[in-house]
Amino acid sequence: MTDIKRIVVLGGAESGVGAAVLAKLKGFEVFLSDSGIIRGKYKEVLEAYDIDFEEGKHTSNKIMDAAEVIKSPGISEKVEIVKSLRDKKIPIISEIEFAGRYTTAKKICITGSNGKTTTATLIHHMMKKAGMNVGLAGNVGESFAMQVATQNYDYYVIELSSFQLDGMFDFTADIAILLNITPDHLDRYDYELQNYVDSKFRIINNLNQDNFFIFCSDDDITIKELEKIVTTAQKLPFSIKTATTTAFIENNYMNINYRGDDFTISLDELSLRGKHNIYNSMAAGIAGRVLDIRKDIIRESLIDFQGVEHRLEHVLKIHDVDFINDSKATNINSAWYALESMSTPTVWIVGGQDKGNDYAELAELVKQKVKAIVCLGIDNSKIIKAFDGLVPTIIETKSMNEAVKNCYKLAKKGETVLLSPACASFDLFENYEDRGSQFKECVREL
Ligand code: ADP
Repeated sequence: MTDIKRIVVLGGAESGVGAAVLAKLKGFEVFLSDSGIIRGKYKEVLEAYDIDFEEGKHTSNKIMDAAEVIKSPGISEKVEIVKSLRDKKIPIISEIEFAGRYTTAKKICITGSNGKTTTATLIHHMMKKAGMNVGLAGNVGESFAMQVATQNYDYYVIELSSFQLDGMFDFTADIAILLNITPDHLDRYDYELQNYVDSKFRIINNLNQDNFFIFCSDDDITIKELEKIVTTAQKLPFSIKTATTTAFIENNYMNINYRGDDFTISLDELSLRGKHNIYNSMAAGIAGRVLDIRKDIIRESLIDFQGVEHRLEHVLKIHDVDFINDSKATNINSAWYALESMSTPTVWIVGGQDKGNDYAELAELVKQKVKAIVCLGIDNSKIIKAFDGLVPTIIETKSMNEAVKNCYKLAKKGETVLLSPACASFDLFENYEDRGSQFKECVREL
C-alpha cells in the first residue's frame, strides 16, 4: 500500500478537521498538525475517525513528506512550516478546494469584504423554503468538507473568505457572488490592496458561459478590476444607483429583471434594514431567480428572514430606547452602513483593536447621527482624536457592563444605543461573538 497519497492538514479547527475526515474517508493517509491546542470536540472527531494528529507543534519530518497540504485559512503564509512547504513546492490548497473534488452538487459561492454571512444565510433560507436539498457551508456552521463527507446535498451555499480563495485553483462555482471590496486584512496581503482584490476575484476562476457572476456595479474597485478581466460567465450586476442592471431600485421598489421577466418588492417589505442590506437582498434575489425559485417564495424569504446574530441585531427596547448589537462590524465600512441606517439620535459604542482605521470616513455620518460616543477599548486615543469637537459627549469605558450602563444614562426616550465597534474585539473579548453576547446580557440586566 505504498502508493497511498499522504495528505497533511495544517490547523485543527472546523475546516481542518472536516478536511481530515473527508481525506480519511477517501482512503488517504492523513496527518493533522496544529501549533496550538486543539479543542476537545475536534479531538474527539479525530479520534473517532482514527486520524493521526499532533498539537502544540509542527513536526517538520511528519509534514514535509506530504503529497498535498490542506491549510486552514487562519494560518498565515509567514509561518515557518508554510514557508518550508512553499520552498519545496509541495502543493498547498484550502479545504474548499479539496472538498470540491468530491461533490457534484451545485455550488453558490459568496465573497466580499462585508455581508458574506448575511447573504449566504439569506440564500440558504430561500432555497430551504423552496424545498431544495441544500447545505450552508464556509465560515458558517459545519465545514464544507465535513458536509461533503457525511451529507448528501444537491446544493451548497458557501461563504468564502479571501484566505480560503487563496488556496483554490480548480474549484468552480456555479453561481459566484462578489458583494463588495473595501480594504480589509491588508496585513495578510503585504499591505497591497491589489493582492487582496486578486484574491477576491479568484471566485470567478474557471467560470464558463453556463455559470453566473453576480456583482455590485456600484463598487468602484470591483468595476475597475472587471475592466481588466475576461470572463465568459453570465454577468448579473446589481446597483442602487442605476436602473440598467439586473437588480435595481425604482420608486422605492427593488426590481430584478432576469431574462425579460420582472420581480419587484417594496423596500419597506424587506426584513433586513439598511442600505447595505438592500445590496445583500438584491444579490440573494438574483441568485433565487437564477435558481428558478418561484417569485412568491423569493418574496416571502426576503420578508421573513430573521437576520443573523450580531449583525444589526435588535436586542431590546427599554423605556423607549432601542438597543442594537452590530458586534460583527469589525471594520470602518460595516460601521458606516450601521450608522447610515440609524433613524434616531444614536449613542454609539465604538472601539477595540484597531486594524489601521481611517475614522475620517465616518466623520460626516457621525456628525449627523451620533449624540454621544462611548469608547470601549484599551486604547481609545485615535477615536477620541478623530471625533473630538464633532460629538458633544465622548467617554471612555473598559468593560461592556460599564459601557452599556453609561449608554443607558446618555440615551433619552426615542433614541438608539448602537454597538458597532469598527474594530476587532481581541483587546477585551474572546471574539466578536463574545463581545455581542456580553452586550446583550448587559442590556437584559438593565
Ligand atoms: P461577513 O461575513 O462578510 O463578515 P456579515 O454578514 O457577517 O459579513 O456582516 C458583517 C458586518 O458588516 C455587520 O456589521 C453587517 O451589518 C455589515 N454588513 C452586512 N452586509 C454588508 C454590506 N453589503 N456592506 C457593508 N457592510 C455590511
